[in-house]
Amino acid sequence: MKKIFDCIIIGSGPAGYTAAIYIARADLNHILYTGPIPGGQLIKTNEIENYPGFPKGVKGYLLMENFKKQAEKFGTKIYFNNVIDINFKLNNIHEILLDNNKKIQTKTIIIATGAYPKYLNIDNEKALIGHGISTCATCDGFFFKKKDVAVIGGGDKALEEAIFLSKLCNRIYIIIRKSKMRASKIMQKKIYNINNIKLLFNFEIKKIIGKKKLEYLICKKNYSNEEKKINVKAMFLAIGNSPNTNIFKNKISLDKNGYILTKKNSTKTNIPGVFAAGDVKDKIYRQAITSAGTGCMAAIEVEKYLSSLDLDLDLDLEE
Ligand code: NDP
Repeated sequence: MKKIFDCIIIGSGPAGYTAAIYIARADLNHILYTGPIPGGQLIKTNEIENYPGFPKGVKGYLLMENFKKQAEKFGTKIYFNNVIDINFKLNNIHEILLDNNKKIQTKTIIIATGAYPKYLNIDNEKALIGHGISTCATCDGFFFKKKDVAVIGGGDKALEEAIFLSKLCNRIYIIIRKSKMRASKIMQKKIYNINNIKLLFNFEIKKIIGKKKLEYLICKKNYSNEEKKINVKAMFLAIGNSPNTNIFKNKISLDKNGYILTKKNSTKTNIPGVFAAGDVKDKIYRQAITSAGTGCMAAIEVEKYLSSLDLDLDLDLEE
């Protein structure tokens, strides 16, 4: 007979690994599938300064390595597969299809697939990815040592990228579409103290120029016709994220931006036995710590759900 797991966790960011730690300690039969980026978005984050327990800050990849080690210590089996399809609810059993064509059956699923970086969606952008256009300064900044570069966005990620680049590159333009930044005040203060960072408020990128590699950007000032040519060798996009929910479309309730909808104060989705945690369901807080928190909630809700299934089974036997 085919093995039926208690729980399958999809995703390996703070939500997925935290869920795994709790599920493992509850002695439930489970597997975690990492998805295409083991460790999730945090492995692309250089320094995390606001994760409690690390007064000196911690490198994103190190934090995720520790999450992984902790889950493995309690018995989580981790596989580097992608889940490519799901058949929800076959008599309370869900079926997952992996990229190696294997089918896995499970009583519960925790979806913790996170989010992926947004692009501007303008001409030439996709063509120049890897040739001057990047969504990760920690990964690609090194290639633009002593050059002028631009960071797009005014959130914490943009400022963090700019701070990282300020130690490597010559001049960093931060291009912000509004008259103020969305980033936390502490990050904003840091930026104003760095000499080689220049802020351009109210500017949006209109054109990306370059054949084989980025040559320059044309920006337009909002509410005016002013255009500016910015000579940079690289453009780092930090304009937010979209949830990784493509495989769940038309299968589970999503909001208009594609985030998984969950019940109030819960990680329960509209499908019994299926729970969502982390950035895939959170468009408000989007912090490593809140993701870890909802991962923990999902694991506790899985335990409760499985106990209620056991109870149903006992009642059936009594009839
Ligand atoms: P945010 O959504 O917070 O910020 C996105 C930024 O990009 C905003 O300034 C937004 O402008 C701008 N933007 C969005 N779309 C466009 C566009 N099409 N063109 C130009 N600009 C655009 O995303 P982040 O990735 O910065 O942060 C995500 C979460 O992660 C946040 O909660 C943040 O606090 C957290 N974080 C924390 C860090 C830390 O503590 N060290 C580090 C990194 C992230 P507008 O304001 O006009 O919408």
